[in-house]
Amino acid sequence: MKEGITTLTSEKKSVPDGLWHKCGRCKKNLLAEDHAKNNYVCPNCNYHDKIGSDEYFPILFGTEYEELFSNIKPTDPLKFKDTKEYAKRLKESQEKSGLDDAMKVAVGNLAENQKLVVACMDFGFIGGSMGSVVGEKIARAIDYSRENKIPLMIISKSGGARMMEAAFSLMQMAKTSAKLALLGKAGIPYISLLTDPTTGGVTASFAMLGDVNIAEPEALIGFAGPRVIKETIGKDLPKGFQSSEFLLEHGFIDFIVNRNELRLKLTELVHLLMKKQIPA
Ligand SMILES: [Zn+2]
Repeated sequence: MKEGITTLTSEKKSVPDGLWHKCGRCKKNLLAEDHAKNNYVCPNCNYHDKIGSDEYFPILFGTEYEELFSNIKPTDPLKFKDTKEYAKRLKESQEKSGLDDAMKVAVGNLAENQKLVVACMDFGFIGGSMGSVVGEKIARAIDYSRENKIPLMIISKSGGARMMEAAFSLMQMAKTSAKLALLGKAGIPYISLLTDPTTGGVTASFAMLGDVNIAEPEALIGFAGPRVIKETIGKDLPKGFQSSEFLLEHGFIDFIVNRNELRLKLTELVHLLMKKQIPA
């Protein structure tokens, strides 16, 4: 599942002790409540803390949204075992995270008369790895978008493929890409939001296939990790390599959006893509 990514597993979103939240970067203390109100962005250093679907949906929709396809749950078709049986790992991850797998889908009102379907990855579930459930939920979200003519956004946050599902995991790259091609043919916009971190097979498939690819500030975005690339090409890598800012400069993403402006920017973007008048 890691595909050579060496960082970040220890940086999962921490639940604040008591009422205080300590910024993961500048280490300043802030009331946990204020941190949440600021969409989990540090007001001091702009660090975008890692959040999951349960945080993103209210940021985008307020309280008015409906979760879709929550009946899809993971299985262990290969009876995979490395240090631990996969079935056991799934159960433990579910208990620890309160999630069924690394993806939730919801539909809600982005703005008045403008719905959006959002498929959001959860890094807190086995490193946001892409297995059959992630792929199937994306496929169904795309079908739902197409049938109801509602634009789609996928929020990526992933260590890559889920090795415990082997080929079943890798298949999801082709499956989601093929489904997105159908969505494109139907003329329904697809926006990809890349967040920290987006790597491996996710970057190599749906995360880079948006009509518009956008990213949160200072997110790690790449395929293989810097160490693997360095060893392969035998050269030092440029500074800031694989950050949102570097990718923007080199044309891989279209713009960077601060989480506090996400809903507004998306509303404008979706209206442009749907050829509607931008609301005042
Ligand atoms: Zn900070």
